[in-house]
Amino acid sequence: MNLHQLPQPRLGPYPEHPQHRTGDRPPHTPLRPRWACRACGQPWPCGEARLLLKTEFEGRKSSLLIYFSGLFYEAMHDLYYLNPGGQVEPHELFDRFVSWA
Ligand SMILES: [Zn+2]
Repeated sequence: MNLHQLPQPRLGPYPEHPQHRTGDRPPHTPLRPRWACRACGQPWPCGEARLLLKTEFEGRKSSLLIYFSGLFYEAMHDLYYLNPGGQVEPHELFDRFVSWA
């Protein structure tokens, strides 16, 4: 087996949820690399996004947690790259992306 031929790990999931749309208004999905909501500008997931996500993933809590664990990884990468000084604490990001779900 040639280890150099193995596929490279992919990045985490594409942040396309919540998929709910209201007319032509922007969805409550994150703008990367700052992870701010494109609809309301709040740190993502904003309150509206959390409500929509809980509805969208109702009965599939494990899927929601797996999705957000992947986004947590992506957000850590983006936010630490943008702010290597470390004003973003890992436990804060974990609470923001995973614990609430
Ligand atoms: Zn929002």
